[in-house]
Amino acid sequence: MAELTPMMQRYVETKKEYSDCILFYRLGDFYEMFFDDAITASRELEITLTGKSCGLEERAPMCGIPYHAVEGYLNKLVGKGYKVAICEQVEDPKLAKGLVKRDVVRIVTPGTNIDGQSMDETRNNYIMCIVYIADRYGLSIADVSTGDYFVTELEDSLKLKDELSKFMPSEIICNEAFYMSGMDLDDLKQRLGIAVYSLDAWYFDDELCKKKILEHFKTASLDGLGLQDYDCGIISAGALLQYLYETQKNSLSHLTHLTGYTTGKFMMIDSSTRRNLELCETLREKQKRGSLLWVLDKTKTAMGARTLRTYIEQPLINKQSILDRLDAVEELKNNAIAREEMREYLTPVYDLERLITRIVYQSANPRDLNAFQSSLTMLPHIRYILSEMNSPLLKQICEELDPLEDLCKRIGDAITEEPPIAMKEGGIIRDGYNEEIDRLRHAKSDGKSWIAKLESDEREKTGIKSMKVKYNKVFGYYLEVTNSFKDMVPDYYTRKQTLTNAERYIIPELKELEDTILGAEDKLYALEYDLYCNVRNAVAAEVERIQLTAKAIAKLDVFASMALVAERNNYVRPKINENGVIDIKDGRHPVVEKMIPNDMFISNDTYLDDKKQRISIITGPNMAGKSTYMRQAALIVLMAQIGSFVPASKANIGLVDRIFTRVGASDDLASGQSTFMVEMTEVANILRNATSNSLLILDEIGRGTSTFDGLSIAWAVVEYISDNKLLGAKTLFATHYHELTELEGKIENVNNYCIAVKEKGDDIVFLRKIVKGGADKSYGIQVAKLAGVPDIVIDRAKEIVEELSDEDITTRVNEISVKTAQTKKTKTKKYDEVDIAQFSLFDTVKDDDVLEELKEIDVSNLTPMDALNTIYRLQNKL
Ligand code: ADP
Repeated sequence: MAELTPMMQRYVETKKEYSDCILFYRLGDFYEMFFDDAITASRELEITLTGKSCGLEERAPMCGIPYHAVEGYLNKLVGKGYKVAICEQVEDPKLAKGLVKRDVVRIVTPGTNIDGQSMDETRNNYIMCIVYIADRYGLSIADVSTGDYFVTELEDSLKLKDELSKFMPSEIICNEAFYMSGMDLDDLKQRLGIAVYSLDAWYFDDELCKKKILEHFKTASLDGLGLQDYDCGIISAGALLQYLYETQKNSLSHLTHLTGYTTGKFMMIDSSTRRNLELCETLREKQKRGSLLWVLDKTKTAMGARTLRTYIEQPLINKQSILDRLDAVEELKNNAIAREEMREYLTPVYDLERLITRIVYQSANPRDLNAFQSSLTMLPHIRYILSEMNSPLLKQICEELDPLEDLCKRIGDAITEEPPIAMKEGGIIRDGYNEEIDRLRHAKSDGKSWIAKLESDEREKTGIKSMKVKYNKVFGYYLEVTNSFKDMVPDYYTRKQTLTNAERYIIPELKELEDTILGAEDKLYALEYDLYCNVRNAVAAEVERIQLTAKAIAKLDVFASMALVAERNNYVRPKINENGVIDIKDGRHPVVEKMIPNDMFISNDTYLDDKKQRISIITGPNMAGKSTYMRQAALIVLMAQIGSFVPASKANIGLVDRIFTRVGASDDLASGQSTFMVEMTEVANILRNATSNSLLILDEIGRGTSTFDGLSIAWAVVEYISDNKLLGAKTLFATHYHELTELEGKIENVNNYCIAVKEKGDDIVFLRKIVKGGADKSYGIQVAKLAGVPDIVIDRAKEIVEELSDEDITTRVNEISVKTAQTKKTKTKKYDEVDIAQFSLFDTVKDDDVLEELKEIDVSNLTPMDALNTIYRLQNKL
């Protein structure tokens, strides 16, 4: 250490404090990195690794990035899961005595990055803190870019997984116990791209955490915050707050509320169901287009877009709250003119939540403040229209929406209409706002005429007509004379610079003028900056009012968007019941209907209840539309529970507490488990966690194993679900095991449906209509033909299917029916028409072999012993 240069010693001291970060060390116009940081960063950012003499024998590895391009590099490193500590010069190098003072001003981590340009404004960037204490999970979540901050407690790891897939944080911090708890951290890190850090034990000290929270919210007890019942939740929230203070290094005054919630308030949706139903992104391409969010999102503001996403991710289960939302949507649907006018006012509204955070962080530039102000000018108009509305929720939004006219005026009075981005180069404050500013401005502009006068005086005196006063940053003001006149320059001119065709001079009067002008300019810029900061701080002080208003705007935007979507797509208001009846008339799949041209989507009814219609077994050939039909029912229920209108001609939705889906597992192949194992794990999860109020969508259970095993499992699953004492959940069950249709009649709440197809000669036509009864054919070969499998294969398949039979399995199914059947004789298919006496395919091949061999034998050259052996061998082949 002692051998290092003083600068490097300082560097190493700072780096010691931030050993888990890459340290961006500001030197002049660059952020430099040294030693291991330099090696890592040059590799990750693909920048050149150089060296710097540092006092040691070998040069220190070094790489650097220019300060003005820091954003891109920073985001790249953080995106890869690194933490970056930014060390700035905190005093003016010109005024510094000795080494310039430097400090780390912010630590950027994946979950605390507030950089506007690198963020998707339509989604939150969450950081989550998980503590695992005595078999419970304390969970807290924050978005530092918007000020959202929540806390909850969970009793098992499945719920934790659901919360993870709901929030999809970009960073998790946790205690050691969670880190070691057996949760698949690699899956979190690699598959989901979440950075996971375990923090030291002291972060989770009970007392310290409580103290931190009470201090931050300036209250004396947790009761005041309504959080007295959260034990490990508070530890989580406190640790998170501590971590945020350390990384953000500011007051965090925009974290104005810590909201406690219980998962029981929302519909539970597990991660595979979220993916399968393609709520916010599609299964394969992982993009918004093609998801439910894509259809529903016609929001105008970033705040609205984020809120709609949260609504979709957590549907409600409380009837009154759903009805309130539906009322709001209905009123806005019926009142299209008012709605569209409000939406027009919403269009120019910027992201108030993220802007106020930048304002609180003192990183908002004059242009940001201007954007903020111009957004505020829309609020009174919106509020005026809103005040005419009658539904309770819209009235409440109207109350929450503070028109913020005082702030709007404050900013508008002070800041010019087109301010610059730079904060310290003037041009920010309006004329007439401050006398001193006006005076300095005059001095500055008068200076221009003084300079012009000096120029003409000097021309006069010297007789050099082409002489000009010019300015540059190095020399300040100077007089320029072209070479042809340089002999006429008087003695009192001091030469400063020689160019090829001209000379540059200064004179004392010019320098005096320069001092006045530039002095005025320096003072002006400094004063403008001060006044600008005053305004910005005044806005920052109102962060709570602004956040509340931003939330009100967000909700209004969401309901207006839902109303517009309902109108455009011909949705209806669903009735909501608590009797367990799901009754959908002419339902449509909200996304598939958009993908199919010219309104070609065929609507279908769905009816499920807690009595005789609990389970629908759905059969039909591949491609008939089974999955579409089932997902459509799930999506309609989900849409109703977020308060949206639904694609149907009529709908009465019995509230469900959870939706589970079990659909193809191809996307899980990457996780290394066999498809069948994944399928069964999901089935296990569903059967253990569903309740009688849940809705189950089961598509082709048992497909991943042999026919017998698969059918048996599927059968047993249906029996289990149908039984009130065991589970009794409402279920749509698609299967290619026609044998399952036997269950209708044996179990009273199971019903058969199939999706109709029409035979047309050798081909089939999909009718897409769901009808009562089981399908009696699978039409696999016809579907293969439609898919373009070559004729020769299709023809051969037809021959083979004639020869194979399901005789065995059908007989056995009938045996089961004898054991468990209560009523109705089972309906069987026409397997008896198949000629079982004919040779099987493989037998035929074997006989041909024997004949071939017989023909080949050279009998005249065979000994009696050989002949005997051959006959014996051939006989064995038969
Ligand atoms: P299955 O699950 O029976 O194999 P899918 O539900 O995947 O069939 O449907 C196959 C395709 O049929 C869908 O991609 C869609 O384009 C079309 N389809 C499904 N249902 C309908 C419908 N009700 N109206 C029009 N087209 C439909």
